[in-house]
Amino acid sequence: MSNVKNPPAWLGVMGGGQLGRMFAHAAQSMGYSVAVLEPSADCPAGQAANRLINADYSDAAGLDALAAQCVAVTTEFENVPADSLSRLAQSVFVAPDAHGVSVAQDRIAEKGFFVASAAKSGVMPAPHKVIATDADIDAISDDLLPGILKTVRMGYDGKGQVRVKSRDDVRAAFDGMGKVTCLLEKMLPLAYEVSVLTARGADGASVVYPIAENVHRDGILFTTTVPGPNITADCARKAQAAAQAIVAELGYVGVLCIEFFVLADGSLVVNEMAPRPHNSGHYTIDACVTSQFAQQVRAMAGLPLGDVRQHSPAVMLNILGDIWYEGEGDDVREPAWNKVLALPGANLHLYGKEEPRRARKMGHLTFVAPTLVEAQQHLNAACAILGIEA
Ligand code: ATP
Ligand code: MG
Repeated sequence: MSNVKNPPAWLGVMGGGQLGRMFAHAAQSMGYSVAVLEPSADCPAGQAANRLINADYSDAAGLDALAAQCVAVTTEFENVPADSLSRLAQSVFVAPDAHGVSVAQDRIAEKGFFVASAAKSGVMPAPHKVIATDADIDAISDDLLPGILKTVRMGYDGKGQVRVKSRDDVRAAFDGMGKVTCLLEKMLPLAYEVSVLTARGADGASVVYPIAENVHRDGILFTTTVPGPNITADCARKAQAAAQAIVAELGYVGVLCIEFFVLADGSLVVNEMAPRPHNSGHYTIDACVTSQFAQQVRAMAGLPLGDVRQHSPAVMLNILGDIWYEGEGDDVREPAWNKVLALPGANLHLYGKEEPRRARKMGHLTFVAPTLVEAQQHLNAACAILGIEA
């Protein structure tokens, strides 16, 4: 295979967050060097990278420096401008490419793609309507309410979303968002939520990790449990098949995660996809043969995809900045990691973020154990130590 990029070559990452940091760790452990392009000077990925190129995501000189240094470039940040990926692709292998990323970063393009590929994937997105003008609000059909108004771009962790019950609510929310183009989605009765992590190589080979069950709190991922306690074998099969159809249809190369809703009747609805490793895939670091970050390295370097087998049941808990504070006060203290790490099967991952802001993802904990029940018990004990309501 001539397109194999062997270590000790340089791999590039667009974005300096925690996903880039964990990617750097995985790439370096395989002998690669890592260059990160990111505008902020102190960032989680920059601390781990061999080189940090401090530049805006669309800065031509910065992009050219990244392309010149690296044999392949990936992205850890969903909102990286697609034009930047296209520019990079003129001189270096880029995975995922501008097409896949541009579909995933625009909710209208994403929903349209899900509808267009439904015949192959077997799943549809939630009923929805584009809200670009006040007239669009007048034309909303009753069965889309109650719903959720979501900005088309730049939404994450529940930001850029407002729950609405009536047309007047939609009007107020649309005004509140400065009348940027939004998507109104029907509010569905979710039984539970799952995500499917996949990876596809440039040769078209693809793998799917075990289905993860996710619990969100205040719009932010709270826990991921694998295997999911509610997932039926039939649901898992359908979700995995849908995910593989979706990445093939996109012609995607790299790691991609798709979020699904499971409704009370067991039916699957596709929510959104992330063109990169995903928070719900962090458990793979400690519980799978190949982590999602090592998998991204393999996919972009033209290496065979790794074994996705899970060797231990796992529960992942996101660590938000809130636990550095006692109550509503401003005093900051370090959580009692010594007590948490005394629990069996605890794996602590902190992202090197200096300032523990509330609702900011500071790290995660993954508990692995011989049985899921034990992993959950140890996670509950950690929650008690950290002052998190389990
Ligand atoms: P992420 O952090 O995953 O990028 P996001 O801000 O892009 O999140 P979504 O994934 O669209 O937003 O929604 C966040 C959460 O809100 C979902 O995981 C789900 O719990 C809830 N939600 C979103 N859309 C719907 C819907 N149509 N019906 C019911 N619940 C929904
Ligand atoms: Mg989501």
